[in-house]
Amino acid sequence: MTAGGEIPLDKIVLPPEGERIQVIEDKLAVPDCPIIPFIEGDGIGPDITRAAQWAWNAAVTKTYGDSRKIVWLELYAGEKALQRYGEVLPQDTFRAIEHFVVAIKGPLTTPVGTGYRSLNVALRQKLDLYACVRPVAYLPGVPSPVTHPERMNIVIFRENTEDVYAGIEWPKGSEEGEKVISYLNKEFDLHIPQDSGIGIKPISQRATQRLVRKAIQYAIGQGRRSITVMHKGNIMKYTEGAFRDWAYQVARDEFPEETITEKEIQQRYGGEVPPDKVVVKDRIADSMFQQILTRTAEYDVIAAPNLNGDYLSDACAAQIGGLGMAPGANIGDFTALFEATHGTAPKYAGLDKVNPSSLILSGKMMLEYIGWREAAELIQSALVRTIQQKKVTYDLARQMQGATKLKTSEFTSAIVENM
Ligand code: NAP
Repeated sequence: MTAGGEIPLDKIVLPPEGERIQVIEDKLAVPDCPIIPFIEGDGIGPDITRAAQWAWNAAVTKTYGDSRKIVWLELYAGEKALQRYGEVLPQDTFRAIEHFVVAIKGPLTTPVGTGYRSLNVALRQKLDLYACVRPVAYLPGVPSPVTHPERMNIVIFRENTEDVYAGIEWPKGSEEGEKVISYLNKEFDLHIPQDSGIGIKPISQRATQRLVRKAIQYAIGQGRRSITVMHKGNIMKYTEGAFRDWAYQVARDEFPEETITEKEIQQRYGGEVPPDKVVVKDRIADSMFQQILTRTAEYDVIAAPNLNGDYLSDACAAQIGGLGMAPGANIGDFTALFEATHGTAPKYAGLDKVNPSSLILSGKMMLEYIGWREAAELIQSALVRTIQQKKVTYDLARQMQGATKLKTSEFTSAIVENM
């Protein structure tokens, strides 16, 4: 097979070597030299992408020698795309990610309150990457603001395509906004002030259930103990409350042998969780933020609507060393876009200063996703060793006693030496 197969790309030249990852009979078929697209991203994106590719390539070479290699293909989004294509998110980028199935990206700028909508949200929606998967686990040696960071070992499945992130909103005074407000006030006898901005929060049964299905499948497959549905259903009954009900329905209808609810544990098993069952439970969003701090070890896989999941991911990341340490991925049925979970930190752009660990660990997730587990493990062990040697970037150094503060490139070099 040739590099790309049939794919109509405008300004992207396919590499002469490598093959594409394919989905064959509902499974990923990964060649020894897969072409994997990457987007550098804005701000600190180029700094961390350069570093991370160095670490990923080194891990693959050290693990598999010449028998396996990633062939990188650069795609464009954000400022770099604007220069090359005159638009921030060209069709080439969508087409190539769909075609090559697995890709990875740095952070992209999103203007607040004005300008274009989030490129990250657009990528997730257009490619139907409906699950934002964020593992949050403590790595030994990483400084943390809590007493027992090692108790944190969760994976958040955040719904990625709807909720208030669906992008259905209009500014105060706009024709559309005024129309919606007038309609609601007239038809439903409401009193929404005419000078309001207005947004819509759709949460559907289908999107909820495919997200929860993925989370339950993951929990069962990885031998996890529980899945917690996080919602604010006491207030938003027909969106977040329905999210909870639909989640329980998936567990009950599709995984009756593998899952059990807290109520069933009390009623049928005297409060003891039977072996080999994944407990399905739910928590109200505000209490979840408290519980994840005070009873951290009781939580494992968490399924949440978009906004809750976004907030919770960052709050949890704070306990294990901050945003610079937290990896993530946006995953559809098969297509997966791995990404650094932090933003573009523009004040540090080009300074060779920031922590590349979030992106490096997202790449580790990506290697696991394509089945290259040995290389993934090597990345993690080398990263842990480097941090335990107290060789770290500024963000961790300022929280550690006696640390050596390294630049992004020096830190990456230390990781590679530790492989
Ligand atoms: P941010 O870029 O994540 O930066 C906030 C702060 O987090 C930084 O000032 C820095 O804190 C710390 N930080 C972030 N990345 C770090 C790293 N790799 N190493 C060490 N510290 C790191 O958030 P923001 O300033 O709110 O957002 C900037 C832009 O990024 C916005 O346009 C936003 O929309 C976008 N964004 C994109 C994504 C994405 O592409 N997935 C995600 C979030 C935000 P200190 O200064 O305290 O050290």
